[in-house]
Amino acid sequence: MMRTRFALSLLVAAIATPMHSARAQGAAAPVPPARRTVLKAAHLVEPRTGKRLDNAVIVVDGEKIVSVSSGGAIPAGATVIDLGDATLLPGLIDVHTHLSGESHDYYTDLFRHSPIDAAVRAHVYAKRTLEAGFTTVRDVGAPELIDVALRNAINEGVVEGPRMLVATLPLSATGGHGDLNGFSPYIHFQELSNIADGVDEVRKAVRTNVKYGADWIKVLASAGVLSEEESVGAPQYSQEELNAIVTEAAQWGRKVAAHAHGAEAIKRATRAGVASIEHGGLVDEEGVRLMKEHGTYLVPDIYTDAYILEHGKELGLPDKMIEKERQLRKAQNVNWRRAIAAGVKMAFGTDAGVYPHGTNAKQFKYLLELGLTPLQTIQMATSNAADLLGWSDKVGTLAPGAWADLIAVRGDPLSDVTVLERPAFVMKGGTIYRGEPASDTAAAR
Ligand SMILES: [Zn+2]
Repeated sequence: MMRTRFALSLLVAAIATPMHSARAQGAAAPVPPARRTVLKAAHLVEPRTGKRLDNAVIVVDGEKIVSVSSGGAIPAGATVIDLGDATLLPGLIDVHTHLSGESHDYYTDLFRHSPIDAAVRAHVYAKRTLEAGFTTVRDVGAPELIDVALRNAINEGVVEGPRMLVATLPLSATGGHGDLNGFSPYIHFQELSNIADGVDEVRKAVRTNVKYGADWIKVLASAGVLSEEESVGAPQYSQEELNAIVTEAAQWGRKVAAHAHGAEAIKRATRAGVASIEHGGLVDEEGVRLMKEHGTYLVPDIYTDAYILEHGKELGLPDKMIEKERQLRKAQNVNWRRAIAAGVKMAFGTDAGVYPHGTNAKQFKYLLELGLTPLQTIQMATSNAADLLGWSDKVGTLAPGAWADLIAVRGDPLSDVTVLERPAFVMKGGTIYRGEPASDTAAAR
């Protein structure tokens, strides 16, 4: 959704040097997890079953959960963290983020900032996201492969952030949502680009993304809000092009996420076999039927829409974009409700970066507008999201064998989802990133 640009050669030099020297000095190395840790809390919610467990005891060994019980025995020599009357949940998952950028002022972001600015800030956004309780994200589009560098740095323990699955450069048609439109034809950016037209070019674009580290493929199947096309939802890729993208991606073991607001683009992308429709606000009856039939996930980013309408002016967005958002916001709740009623699968994605990183959980209360229950919204951000990512055994659950990615909140998230906006405790892979275990531990022992 965001655009930041400029020269590649400078970027490589700028990121490579400081990171390597930081690692050489061991500057950012996180503290490795204690071998055995026991987490105790008054309650636990397992989203897969929707069940609440009282007197919860979770035993963590290294990076993984080994057991979950009610009042179970505490292994000798384990470090005990007593979270008191808190409720434990799996770490949250946002399947639509852009950790490489954050909107502040539209034309400044576009013309006065370069990918170097984006690269030096991205780790701050990653840390903020993790501390907000989001332990996994699918990052669906970044300039200059910043997402690949960020993911790798997090995996190597150089930078603190969520587990990232990244989509690198979104595929866009010429003049499409990912192209720079509305300016003189003499204005050019020097940048890595995946503007691709026709079956051969889109296949090559998929291969290029995979070559440079994409875990997912993102395609811009329709027009959008934060770009200068006239329409918000017009299709921008043909059925043949979308089919080619999905089959090519599958050949390399990758799934496809399609940005699509408009009804026709949603149907084409669904028929092609994408795993998720991002936004999807103008989906019609036939689109809903197709999505249900194909098991396609819908990712309704309802919080961003509200945020753009409230803050569009201060973000310097052109009036035209705010107007497009207004039209969408009017139509989409009805359409999304229709999809929910039909049983279309739903996952939690927010377009983080359009609004400030680390406030992702504000979306939970907006999802209630669609008639979802608190538990359903939590499932969207845990078990459903994990299923979409193909990581059901690893994240989004508190089952033995899963990564020890979890949060604790004060209050009951099944009756008040806003408690998810303020996690008291965050653990990823057995390492604590938020919460003061020392103060809680004494009482427990
Ligand atoms: Zn986006």
